[in-house]
Amino acid sequence: MPDEPAGSEPREGFPQAAVFVKPKRARPFFGRHPWVLESAVLRVEGDPAGGDAVDLVTHDGQFIGRGLFNPASRLRVRLYGFSADEPLDGGFWETRLEAAVALRRQLGLLGPRSACRLVNSEGDGLSGLIVDRYADFLAVQPTALAIAERLGPICDALQRLIQPRGILLRGAERGLGKLEGLHLADRQLRGEGPKGPVFIEEHGLKFGIDLTEGQKTGAYLDQRENRQAVARYAAGRRVLDMFCYGGGFGVAAAVAGKATAVLSVDSSAKAVALARANAELNAATTMLVEQADAFEKLAALREAGDRFGMVVLDPPKFARSRASASDALRAYHRINRLAVELLEPGGTLVTCSCSGAISRDDFLMMLSGVAQRSNRMLQLLECRGAAADHPVNMHCLEGEYLKCVIARVG
Ligand code: SAH
Repeated sequence: MPDEPAGSEPREGFPQAAVFVKPKRARPFFGRHPWVLESAVLRVEGDPAGGDAVDLVTHDGQFIGRGLFNPASRLRVRLYGFSADEPLDGGFWETRLEAAVALRRQLGLLGPRSACRLVNSEGDGLSGLIVDRYADFLAVQPTALAIAERLGPICDALQRLIQPRGILLRGAERGLGKLEGLHLADRQLRGEGPKGPVFIEEHGLKFGIDLTEGQKTGAYLDQRENRQAVARYAAGRRVLDMFCYGGGFGVAAAVAGKATAVLSVDSSAKAVALARANAELNAATTMLVEQADAFEKLAALREAGDRFGMVVLDPPKFARSRASASDALRAYHRINRLAVELLEPGGTLVTCSCSGAISRDDFLMMLSGVAQRSNRMLQLLECRGAAADHPVNMHCLEGEYLKCVIARVG
């Protein structure tokens, strides 16, 4: 804690409490890793409440960083600042948000009808805060208690920086509530709510986004550039878009890519309705959308002798943790093997994984295993990730999760 003149009032954002790190456990935090786990904590001084600012100090009291405390979470402190002179006050959050918005502006992603991730948690130095922009509306998703408590100043800053018509709160993902002691109901935070879907444009294509009921905050923005990349391989081909959600890959392949036909499949009825609406919105007349289980549908298509020039696999997270990684890799192997068998010679496999617990290397090794057993020649063409509006904090590589591999199957 910095010295304060005796008798002075506590100043906003300068902590009254300190968390001491166990001896020999301080190195990652000097390296600016933002997650201080309960197991690294030696003791806490000053009796902070959940959401309070604390200083992180070595076992002998040397300042390391400044963060927010949550006694209910295994992630006991999230670190935001690494300078003892800098308070975690309103100005601090605004400066971070300003930098996040400036990056998206530089990337050319703030067009009036476009959609992008405005704040990517650790990736923008704002652990526990997700903000997505869909044209005139923002969806805010806090995944940390302390951030949920600061939504007022965060919305004020966003309002000043972006002037949205409305800001909606999307409650944290299920499961996170248990981890953080955070239970949030969806509600309108600022301005007005959209009446019906919000229409956005992505590389010249139109999509209707359901901001209140949709998956994630409404769309999978992390795949935006990959949808465009995939379209380059679609011309003149029959495309299978498996796990299609709103039909993003299918629409891109059909319209931008000039595929001859697209079959998009999802097990969720809502996703199928959304994908059909998006196909219609883009006059993608060659695109068919079907409700089915991916594993069953892939096997049935193979049995029927159906073949495609391109197969896209974009499944939900198969591995929730490291412990389930080997089961997940078996599931990835199964669907990728089926996809390879469905491809014509010279076809394109687009295969994704959004499981952070599966590394890029694990995923490529799994695909190499598929190649070895498939009797086909697989060539790795592109090994992609999320777009630049999903920056990864290099001090915390845990934030890297999306793999999107494009391969040629001979
Ligand atoms: N490709 C999409 C995002 C896919 S998200 C895009 O670019 O926007 C994963 C999707 O898989 C979800 O829509 C979910 O409903 C669907 N899903 C989950 N399990 C499934 C299963 N067993 N079979 C088919 N679809 C499934």
